[in-house]
This record gives sequence, C-alpha cells and structure tokens, in this order.
Amino acid sequence: MTKVTLNGNGSYSLQSKLNGKLPAAFSAPEADMNTPLRPDAFLMADEDKMDTIEDHFRSIMETLGLDLNDDSLKGTPRRVAKMFVQEIFSGLNPENKPAISLFENKYQYRQILVERNITVKSFCEHHFLPIIGVAHVAYFSAGEVIGLSKLNRIVEYFARRPQVQERLTVQIAAELKRVLNTEDVAVYIDARHMCVELRGVEHSHCSTVTTEYSGKFLNENIRAEFLQTIK
Ligand SMILES: [Zn+2]
Repeated sequence: MTKVTLNGNGSYSLQSKLNGKLPAAFSAPEADMNTPLRPDAFLMADEDKMDTIEDHFRSIMETLGLDLNDDSLKGTPRRVAKMFVQEIFSGLNPENKPAISLFENKYQYRQILVERNITVKSFCEHHFLPIIGVAHVAYFSAGEVIGLSKLNRIVEYFARRPQVQERLTVQIAAELKRVLNTEDVAVYIDARHMCVELRGVEHSHCSTVTTEYSGKFLNENIRAEFLQTIK
C-alpha cells in the first residue's frame, strides 16, 4: 500500500508499505529538489577535504603542464581548495545554514514585502563556472516577519553550492516557506551563466530567468504587483 499526500505546494509525500520501495511513477519529487549529496558528505573534516582537494588540484595543474615550482603558481592548489570548501561551496554543509530569527508582526503589516536585487553568486554544477545575477524574493507575513538581511542570507546559502538555476530557485522558495511558515512566497532569479558566455555557444548578453510562485502569488494581480515592483 502506498499513501500519497499532495502537499499545498504541489509536492508529494509518500508512505509506502512495499518494503519502502516507491512506485516508479512517484519518484519522490521532493527529493529531487535536494542537491545530490553522498551519504558520507560530511564525515570528512573541512581541513581534510582541503588537503585532498589541494592534492587533486595540483595534479590537474601538473597534467596541464604547469610548473608548480613557479612562485606565482605554487600556492594555487591550496588557494583553490580553501576557496571551494570555505567560500564558494560552503553552502553544501548544513552547518552553514543561516540561523533565522523571526519577529512578531507588531505593526500588522499585511501587504507584500519584496527584497530586491539580492546578488546571486553561484557555480554551475555542469561546468564549475560562475552563475552571476540577482534574486528578488517576496512574501506575505503569516503572523511573523523576518529580519531583512536573512532573506539575503538564505539566497546566499543555497547559491554557494554547485547548482543549476532551476534547483536554486526551488530550494530558496522551499526554505522561505519553511522558515516563514507560509505558502505565500515568490522567488525570481535573473542570472548570467559563464558556461554559456565563455565556452560552448559563447554568447554574451543573454540571461536566464527562473521563477517560483506559490500561495497568494498564484493570483494574477498579486503576481503582477510583484513583477511591477522588481522592474
Ligand atoms: Zn554550465
């Protein structure tokens, strides 16, 4: 017996009594939103990860024919390893998830709140090249309000992973719904992909827009107000 519950946000919850096996038709869309991580992703300490990445990156550079005895190059493997673990991919580690504090909506503010032009600095997981752009996020308070900079921090946390823009958009929306305890959230991302500009088709001046609307934002007028605000 499989019990399928359709959640408010259009995702499914599944409970299967068939030895925990899910029928193929319900390949757990909820799980698909998550960044594919190995079960042992965080068993290794950051310091050990940096040592390992440093070794591997040195090999890549040597394979390319670079002389690692050169003054300018010799520190690069360590720099790259530190940058991967501590900076650009730090959002892989749930320990780095921003702590969120909510406040009582004392002023009874009932209208839309939009945080515009949040810088998105991410990396495409297919080419490990930058994705650079902006995110606009919005919500209606369900009784509590969030510190504004926390909206930026949520975007930043999910951006600091190898990503695809579609997943980034959905992950941010899901986290906003969770912490704000409401379905009334919108996420809009407009970003340039260096893997499109620097390689492959090598087209500049194009950007990718992804959106996620739920709750009140499924209403045409409210969505129009949001889109007008971020113009
Ligand atoms: Zn790419």
